[in-house]
Amino acid sequence: MDSTYRNIFKWGDKREEHIAPRMKELIRDKFGYSDDDFREKRLPGLEQVRVDKRPALKPRQLDFIRSVVGDDDIVTDDYSRARFSCGKFYGELLDLRLGRVACPPDAVVAPGSHEEVEKLISYCSTEHIPVIPVGGQSSVTGALKAPEGGIALDLTKHLNRILRISTVNKTVTVQAGILGPSLEAELNSNGYTCGHFPQSFEYSTAGGWIAARGAGQASTGYGKIEDMVVALRAVTPAGVIETKDYPRTAQGWDLFRLFIGSEGTLGVITEITLRIHNYNPRDTASAAFIFRSFGQAVEAMRKVMQSEYGKPHLFRISDPDETDIAFRTGGSHNSMSDKLLRRLGFRPGERCLMFVTVEGERDYNHFVLKKIKTTVRKGGGMFIGTGAVKKWLDQRYSSAYIRDPLMDLGIMTDTLETAVTWESLMKVWSSARAYVSRRPKTVFMVHISHVYENGANLYFTFLSPMEKGNERDDFATFHRGLVDTIVENGGSLSHHHGVGRVLAPWMESHLGESSMKALKAIKRHFDPENIMNPGGTLGLTQYRDETDR
Ligand SMILES: Cc1cc2nc3c(=O)[nH]c(=O)nc-3n(C[C@H](O)[C@H](O)[C@H](O)COP(=O)(O)OP(=O)(O)OC[C@H]3O[C@@H](n4cnc5c(N)ncnc54)[C@H](O)[C@@H]3O)c2cc1C
Repeated sequence: MDSTYRNIFKWGDKREEHIAPRMKELIRDKFGYSDDDFREKRLPGLEQVRVDKRPALKPRQLDFIRSVVGDDDIVTDDYSRARFSCGKFYGELLDLRLGRVACPPDAVVAPGSHEEVEKLISYCSTEHIPVIPVGGQSSVTGALKAPEGGIALDLTKHLNRILRISTVNKTVTVQAGILGPSLEAELNSNGYTCGHFPQSFEYSTAGGWIAARGAGQASTGYGKIEDMVVALRAVTPAGVIETKDYPRTAQGWDLFRLFIGSEGTLGVITEITLRIHNYNPRDTASAAFIFRSFGQAVEAMRKVMQSEYGKPHLFRISDPDETDIAFRTGGSHNSMSDKLLRRLGFRPGERCLMFVTVEGERDYNHFVLKKIKTTVRKGGGMFIGTGAVKKWLDQRYSSAYIRDPLMDLGIMTDTLETAVTWESLMKVWSSARAYVSRRPKTVFMVHISHVYENGANLYFTFLSPMEKGNERDDFATFHRGLVDTIVENGGSLSHHHGVGRVLAPWMESHLGESSMKALKAIKRHFDPENIMNPGGTLGLTQYRDETDR
């Protein structure tokens, strides 16, 4: 078995992805890279994993856990502990490349049923053993670290089945550890779709989507995960919470909502009921548009969302920098069509791409798309066909593989995202750009990809050469300044990645003291011994390892 750090930090199926020639050109151009820079692999992480921190679980505790799950479903070797010590946050990937396993659990345990989870949680609460629920490990917020040790609860190994598709209620009930493709394949074969397609779709679970409060790429039409959940079952140290699948109720609070965004801090979600939708792949209508400026594109997007004639499912705008890079890496830069666009006033450095899909019955799609085209035309946009949208859809999961080869080249690459109202969108966008422009040799791309009547998200991607020998601090300082800028100018801490430990330090100042007190009281009720994902998640408790921020 490959027990290297590299095998842990690499994305997805672990294939060695290469940088395409046009991307190489861009790197040469923006960062001044020479041929030598492309030959050397920086911090490749090829060493065998070693965990220095000794496990703290006592033999009798291990024996009890073994008696619950069986010998094959508890492991304590270094590689497994390291593998379950992290998600895919840039800082975690960098640590692994530096041979650093900062916060490993003591053991990895894979329960086989809801009842086994109950036994484990009850025991761990009595024994004060931390428990970190683990799904697909695609978290980008440091939410899976185990700074206080304990057990990582692997929910993907056994708790990964569809329990029921109700064609009458139009819902699906699943175990929390099911991965996106298994869920979607079964639904599609029954004529349905879940409608939740995060970029991490292939390697994330239904439980993780809910616990981190995610959004899929077609969320403008299908909704964010909180719009999809109907009911759930969760094991907490204070007992099992099982809610019913009523369409709506007026019985006080909806308790299941407390678990959406709970990031493993209240309990383990074991079962989930989600709304499902008709699957109409052949009837998806799409369109790409181009605008002369970001402001124009945003205004047209707002008008579409507020017109009430029907919504797109996928709805995106790339800002001028992201649009320029799409032209360059997609091969359209300086092409005949590019020259024509420039002549029409769609100039590089200013122009913006907009992508739209509408999914549903053909007549409906036709109607909505026609309306959108009219709104866009009136707003100064121009229809440029459907090819670019189809190309984007084809590579929507594979682009996640580019981060590893970029890091191999010593390029820091990470993303941040926020929710903004229409009133604050331009201010947050321009302030973030102004902040990043102060760092030399930095590529900064922004897009909008989740859109609502009263606002949208902004999604920031940055690329910049790492500071050799000072990689961790350099990133931490830059990242902190960018989060500060976003929040100070009216953005939320997160729209769909969650908070984890990375954004936890901002929670109290962002939400306010009273709100934070309420969250902590809820945590105390469900988890009085603080065993559920302890050590800083969501800012509910202190995080000990200050250097990991
Ligand atoms: C390349 C890439 C692209 C991404 N794109 C998107 C995107 O488009 N949209 C989006 O929303 N997110 C995206 N993410 C972030 C991440 O995929 C999501 O947060 C996802 O929902 C996490 O699911 P997971 O199964 O991997 O959970 P994990 O990473 O394993 O866990 C995430 C959190 O949920 C908790 N948790 C997991 N399962 C349970 C459970 N059953 N009960 C209680 N707590 C649980 C964990 O303790 C942890 O706090 C992306 C990440 C990567 C690396």
